Amino acid sequence: PLVLGIETSCDETGIGIVRGHTLLADAIASSVDEHARFGGVVPEVASRAHLEAIVPTMQRALDDAGVSLADIDAIAVTAGPGLAGALLVGVAAAKGYALAAEKPIYGVNHLAAHVAVDTLEHGALPEPAIALLVSGGHSSLLLVDDLAHGVTPLGATIDDAAGEAFDKVARLLGLPFPGGPPIDRAAREGDPEAIAFPRGLTAPKDLAAHRFDFSFSGLKTAVARWVEARQRAGEALPVADVAASFQEAVCDVLTAKAIDACRAQGIGTLVIGGGVAANSRLRALAEQRAEKYGIQVRVPRPKLCTDNGAMVAALGSHLVAAGVAPSRLDLPADSAMPLTIVSV
Ligand code: ATP
Ligand code: MG
Ligand code: FE
Repeated sequence: PLVLGIETSCDETGIGIVRGHTLLADAIASSVDEHARFGGVVPEVASRAHLEAIVPTMQRALDDAGVSLADIDAIAVTAGPGLAGALLVGVAAAKGYALAAEKPIYGVNHLAAHVAVDTLEHGALPEPAIALLVSGGHSSLLLVDDLAHGVTPLGATIDDAAGEAFDKVARLLGLPFPGGPPIDRAAREGDPEAIAFPRGLTAPKDLAAHRFDFSFSGLKTAVARWVEARQRAGEALPVADVAASFQEAVCDVLTAKAIDACRAQGIGTLVIGGGVAANSRLRALAEQRAEKYGIQVRVPRPKLCTDNGAMVAALGSHLVAAGVAPSRLDLPADSAMPLTIVSV
């Protein structure tokens, strides 16, 4: 099927078009620069930016794919989770286009879309698979046995998301927002073993109760303490070493627990999605550790890991192919949509 996907849950206005597993267009407008000076996404600013960007981004996606709205078989849109006002812009636009062009509409889960996008890179996802979902607002391990109908959470962060930890640590180091890309770059020049930062929820007693859960707030605090001590002593901050050591702590825990989940469930496929999946060390370490157990790692190219419309189209395409019924035209946006609901 030819499916168009609309994403407006945060600060990216994304419209993607796919045919089956083939990516035809991935148009994006971002308001990230407007938020940078606030050190985080400002909801009102994001909503207004979506409103301004949605129609031109739609036109660009259709032009890039060389199709018209009449050719589209279905429209998928992120219904949640995300910023309420931002989601409403995408959902309202999707309804307008669906009504005008008489197309079915699918209100989908942004997090499931972060997993589904890998099909554009590597084809159909073998099920069951384990998914490591690591983004700005979420960090979870999921059992994916039927992506069209639901996923089973195995564990999640009990405090900060992995991406949030990158963003907060970048701020401590004087690096720009969002913090993932500059930390990834700085870490390449640093020593990942320079500073022994804590690995949250990996002590034997924590593993008993939180085997597949994550915790990154203690790590963030440890980095803050370390940085403060240096500053109090009037010493220069070894930014590259701190970045590399912090990044290693995050990637060590994420990959160890993801592979433990695969082995515990006897599953040979690990798919990694969400903005943090763009991290070069996470990708390398996951590959390296998975190989030892014959586990296949699937991670899409970095541009497909961060928010985009193609991921929404990919999930929509999967739903259409699986025969899932479309949503009602009055579908709601749900800023707190749970991970267990794939489409509304
Ligand atoms: P969610 O998907 O939970 O709603 P979101 O949509 O805001 O959150 P994404 O766009 O999926 O988040 O991911 C953004 C996050 O990914 C940010 O926290 C950013 O710092 C992080 N990120 C992006 N690139 C990298 C990278 N190379 N290394 C580490 N983190 C990265
Ligand atoms: Mg973003
Ligand atoms: Fe996201």
